[in-house]
Amino acid sequence: MEQMILLWVLSTCLSAVHAQSFLLSSKWVPAGHREREGRGDETVMDKIIKTNEFHANRIIDGTTTLREGDIAVSAGRRSRVCFARSCLWTKSVDGHVYIAYTLSPEYTNIETQLITKGMEKIEDDTCVRFVPRTHQRDYIDIQPKSGCWSYLGSRGGRQTLSLQNPDCMELGVIAHEFMHALGFVHEQSRFDRDNYVTIMWPKIWRDRLRNFEKFKTENLDLPYDYGSIMHFGMYSYSMDGEPTIVPKNNKNIKLGQALSLSHIDKLKINKLYQCTVSDD
Ligand SMILES: [Zn+2]
Repeated sequence: MEQMILLWVLSTCLSAVHAQSFLLSSKWVPAGHREREGRGDETVMDKIIKTNEFHANRIIDGTTTLREGDIAVSAGRRSRVCFARSCLWTKSVDGHVYIAYTLSPEYTNIETQLITKGMEKIEDDTCVRFVPRTHQRDYIDIQPKSGCWSYLGSRGGRQTLSLQNPDCMELGVIAHEFMHALGFVHEQSRFDRDNYVTIMWPKIWRDRLRNFEKFKTENLDLPYDYGSIMHFGMYSYSMDGEPTIVPKNNKNIKLGQALSLSHIDKLKINKLYQCTVSDD
């Protein structure tokens, strides 16, 4: 009997220790998102998904929803296609594409500097220039709303680009959202993506299957870019921590970017906007 009591006490203690270590080690994460600790390979899109699944409703307001996780779409407006040249920002006669912006006064000085640096990531080696708005009719209104998201391309007039603070305050995330504003969708949305990656449909959180749709994209004769800042990570929207996107042929290829634009991302901008030089 004493032995049994001893065993019971021992097992109770052990399960308490186990429960405690579980409680201490487990972080609450949104359903469909598995934290992959210690890998150190979190992509820009992983960060965006984490923020948006925590904070942003897929319905931003009554008529605006998020597509592919972070592209704002308004009902009744050209909702899907911005791959023709219909939504480009206007190019100036001096060869630059000047995009006017306003910045919410809610951002701190440090946050403002970071957003500016994120925009510089786009400007480097391209003809795009972000300029504080003076009189321009079309402009990006940067606001710390819920989540990190942007409309696709130029919509005409004022368009919001949300960079929630502090969650979206990372250079890569900022640059990614401005890429959407320039007119780029996610790399794995390319219509020819099935030649390059396998989408593991059963592994994707069911509510988010639509985030993996393909679109009739303008690929600009550029190769599929596994390392694009616009590529989903390998574990995006994974139900059980298993990959949801697997590169074909070479499983060791890394998907996405952690910090900045890839070389091909810059080529994309220069081709879409027909920039002639990589000048100052
Ligand atoms: Zn995105």
